[in-house]
Amino acid sequence: MSRGTWIGTGWKMNKNLAETEDYAAKLIAFLLQGTVKKLNIFIVPPFTVLRSLCDLMKGTDVMVGAQNMHWELQGAFTGEISPLMIMDCGAQLVELGHSERRAYFGETDYTVNKKVLSALKVGLRPLICVGEPTQEKERGTTGEFVLRQVRIALHRVSKNQISNVLLAYEPVWAIGDQGIPAEPQYANRIHQLIRELLIELYDGETAVNVPILYGGSVDHDNARVFIDEPEIDGLFVGRAAWQAESFIQLLDLISEFINSS
Ligand code: PEP
Repeated sequence: MSRGTWIGTGWKMNKNLAETEDYAAKLIAFLLQGTVKKLNIFIVPPFTVLRSLCDLMKGTDVMVGAQNMHWELQGAFTGEISPLMIMDCGAQLVELGHSERRAYFGETDYTVNKKVLSALKVGLRPLICVGEPTQEKERGTTGEFVLRQVRIALHRVSKNQISNVLLAYEPVWAIGDQGIPAEPQYANRIHQLIRELLIELYDGETAVNVPILYGGSVDHDNARVFIDEPEIDGLFVGRAAWQAESFIQLLDLISEFINSS
């Protein structure tokens, strides 16, 4: 199994250039200490600082991603950003289908799928966000809503391409100020259901390598418990990683945890 442990943060509509430079400088200084091991780290900033952050992170292992994209490579789509433009900035990832884009900007499972296919075609790694809007009962959960989202997002994604996909299970009710973090066992169960779907769509050997991250009110108190669940391969963090110091603390504690267990 080679899916590793992933820790990333999405900045949403936050941070100007000066704040980005400050964050990057603190993170780089920390990474240079060499204490963090075996973690796949990524940051998803807003478009306006995407190229700058990619430049700042050059020479580190930190991956950088965009928060959205259009599925077309170029053309008359005023206000949109193409996958090639994201690549040109030096980014490796693109976040697709975040619940805020679905709720406020008309993103659907079908547009997510078009974007996933386009991202994979040009060599960008999609981070596909899925999550049900209301909490299912913990016992007997079927994950039906989430599995439908995954199934559509991956329509026509080939067996060769799936190894470049990252999935993030982010229950809508768990995200943001009003969010309640999922019970780790509940999140693990949904991850397990997603894994079973991947096995059905591809095969066991292929499916086992697709990282599935959890996101939704992750903080320093609950991060270890989520990571300890067997099907949770990483964390996608919002508020608790918006300050460099806070992200660094999370990296430190997860690195220590996985390297000691
Ligand atoms: C998110 O919006 O993807 C997210 C995980 O946010 P938070 O950690 O702030 O709940």
